[in-house]
Amino acid sequence: MSNSRRLFLKGACVAAVGASGFTLVRAKEAGKNTSKPVYKYALVHDETKCIGCDACSIACREVNQVPEGVSRLEIKREGPFGEYPNQYFRFTRHSCQQCESTPCVDVCPTGAAYKDPDTGIVSVDEWKCVGCQYCIAACPYQIRFINPITKAADKCDFCKDTRLKEGKKPACVSACPTKALTFGDITDPDSQIVKVLKSAPSYRSKLDLGTRPKVFRIASQGGEVKL
Ligand code: SF4
Ligand code: SF4
Ligand code: SF4
Repeated sequence: MSNSRRLFLKGACVAAVGASGFTLVRAKEAGKNTSKPVYKYALVHDETKCIGCDACSIACREVNQVPEGVSRLEIKREGPFGEYPNQYFRFTRHSCQQCESTPCVDVCPTGAAYKDPDTGIVSVDEWKCVGCQYCIAACPYQIRFINPITKAADKCDFCKDTRLKEGKKPACVSACPTKALTFGDITDPDSQIVKVLKSAPSYRSKLDLGTRPKVFRIASQGGEVKL
């Protein structure tokens, strides 16, 4: 692993702008000192468009070199629901929720788990990680794991090292054949992700915990009442 990866996002400005138009860090105004993220990256999974094909998780594994036996992204299938011939499945995304309030970061004793102040992306510095697994225990979404190759904690980081720094969208987003995934900056009112979020009601997982996740979901079916 090169030093350039470790130092990623630490520079004053990453000017990479690819065909998809993503930049990691907007140029800061000279002398301006702000602790707020310059961008706030988020993801929408439109479950009404998801067909459970797993192209996203396969692309994630390949691009991020995720070993067999562990995964940064899974599509969970529930169902079938309803009666024939109107049966349907529900597909939900299981990955890091990119929380604003981060229990995983709070418990890390070495600073290996961190949230980047410029992008809001929660990530792991594998060189600082001692494998104590505190973050794994603290994550209420149970999406962290110890990478058997690096021996460090691992999880989805929106492909920040493997795709975003080249100006590309996360691998899952590019691979999805139905455009069920939208990625972007939710602080930009003109971004595609904000338009998608305004176009349909969405929900987030375990909001009551106060983690303020930045993975939004558009529900495939209406809610149900369970007694
Ligand atoms: S989903 Fe878990 S690992 Fe991801 S930011 Fe939230 S608490 Fe941390
Ligand atoms: S496993 Fe690594 S990232 Fe997680 S709390 Fe321990 S040192 Fe921090
Ligand atoms: S690639 Fe798209 S349609 Fe296929 S499982 Fe993933 S989100 Fe769903």
